[in-house]
Amino acid sequence: MEDRITTLLSYTNETVAQDYFPISEAEAKARGYVWRKPEDHNYRITLPAANLPETIQDVSDTITQEIIGCASRNPDPQAGGCTTAFRIVPQELAFYREMNLPLPRVCPNCRHRERLTKCNPLKLWHRRCDCNHQSLMINHYQNTTAHSHGTDPCPNEFETAYAPERPEIIYCEQCLIQLFTQLENAPRSFSGGVY
Ligand SMILES: [Zn+2]
Ligand SMILES: [Zn+2]
Ligand SMILES: [Zn+2]
Repeated sequence: MEDRITTLLSYTNETVAQDYFPISEAEAKARGYVWRKPEDHNYRITLPAANLPETIQDVSDTITQEIIGCASRNPDPQAGGCTTAFRIVPQELAFYREMNLPLPRVCPNCRHRERLTKCNPLKLWHRRCDCNHQSLMINHYQNTTAHSHGTDPCPNEFETAYAPERPEIIYCEQCLIQLFTQLENAPRSFSGGVY
């Protein structure tokens, strides 16, 4: 099924396959997938992104007539296929005004790529629970309830989408449930950090 789909569509820019399982052009061709180079865009940019107003209040209705240059301009098709320029349509402008949001600086493809960098990858790492009982004190958080592992570091291991080099504290399910119980019972003035 996968082969059938990828012979009809280009692996690089017509499916989301490249978002999650990036491969090179040579690899795609070796597997018999279609690889279409993104078309060249020769947009006549009338407004570079750097010249966009800082706030939505300073944007006039004429913005919908501009061809805005993407601030990213990443030419690598594997990096999401920057279209180099974009427009703001009236409905979109109305939405940004209603939500009080500044205009985007990059094209929709680059926005998509930036969003993906904020998602966990489709990959799991084997890790051990970070709970070290009371000796752990990060972001003002400290265990105050007894955990099943006592005062020793928690021995539980598991698979997680959070890579070991990431800054988040990763707890096993057991310690996490105990953490939530602690927070529910905590006084309102509790100043916890990011969990
Ligand atoms: Zn772009
Ligand atoms: Zn644990
Ligand atoms: Zn624990």
